[in-house]
Amino acid sequence: MSTPPVPASVPSAAGRFAPSPSGDLHVGNLRTALLAWLFARSTGRRFLVRLEDLDRVAAGAAERQLADLAALGLDHDGAVLVQSERTAVYDQAIGKLVADGQTYECFCTRREIREAASAPHPSADPAAVAAQLYPGTCRELTPDQIAERRAQGRPSALRLRADVRTWTVIDVLHGEYTGVVDDLVLRRNDGVAAYNLAVVVDDAAQGVDQVVRGDDLLASAPRQAYLAALLGVPAPVYAHVPLALNTAGQRLAKRDGAVTLAELVDQGLTPTDVLGILATSLGLAAVGEPATPDALLEKFDPQQLPREPWIVRPDDLVVRPPGERGSFPP
Ligand code: GLU
Repeated sequence: MSTPPVPASVPSAAGRFAPSPSGDLHVGNLRTALLAWLFARSTGRRFLVRLEDLDRVAAGAAERQLADLAALGLDHDGAVLVQSERTAVYDQAIGKLVADGQTYECFCTRREIREAASAPHPSADPAAVAAQLYPGTCRELTPDQIAERRAQGRPSALRLRADVRTWTVIDVLHGEYTGVVDDLVLRRNDGVAAYNLAVVVDDAAQGVDQVVRGDDLLASAPRQAYLAALLGVPAPVYAHVPLALNTAGQRLAKRDGAVTLAELVDQGLTPTDVLGILATSLGLAAVGEPATPDALLEKFDPQQLPREPWIVRPDDLVVRPPGERGSFPP
């Protein structure tokens, strides 16, 4: 019998912000961080920060991200958890799934998966193709076929043998949300734990029962909650919040000019000004009104949050002259 991947007693309830240190946080990410903090603190939860550094890491980004959160006054509890230091914990969780017969080796390259997903096939599920789900190519390989691929020196990833097609989660903003579950990767073919596995293991180990993050991850929540069920840990309650977009409707990015805290400070704004801009975008402060996290906490009501993306106009990221203060944006 395998041991459970998380300690028997987990700490008290918590929310979290879990950035990937692949670059600096822009105002959209900072707004998500503020929301995660507000959701956690307004419900008496601990607020944790976790660095999700299993993918590409930009030098110094983790330190700058933590400094940004501190500058905005978004305090967190306990030490920052760093995913790259937790290989043994992920291995233990994967070991349980292997022991339960819930995994298989996959030798597909990205290209093969792309081509299989887009190949015309009478029985192909159009929804699966559109979502670029794994088509199950390696699911039923025979021991001989596996040996042959190994002998060719093809690296293998480990996939979940999912026995459901969909799963339902509860989201504070989206209600009951049902999404597709496919045979997701648990361990990548470079030997590193995959994001979906790490996030589930870590949330459970840290007592995270409230996950607030960008709504680009809503479609991943059902897979993660299903994985939690297989690992015998509770799924969190989710709040997938709208992203920040530029005026062309694309995700906010470097090309949009001064969008990070450091860049805005270079342009003469203070972190308090930036917090005020984020608060205004959330309907929690009038234009130009100074904001502190504690003052925002008093006004915070999840049900009143904007449900549409935040369209960031360059004009929004400035300090308003006194004459323009005191009104909400149009
Ligand atoms: N690390 C992910 C990101 O920065 C967030 C994952 C999560 O919050 O579950 O997009």
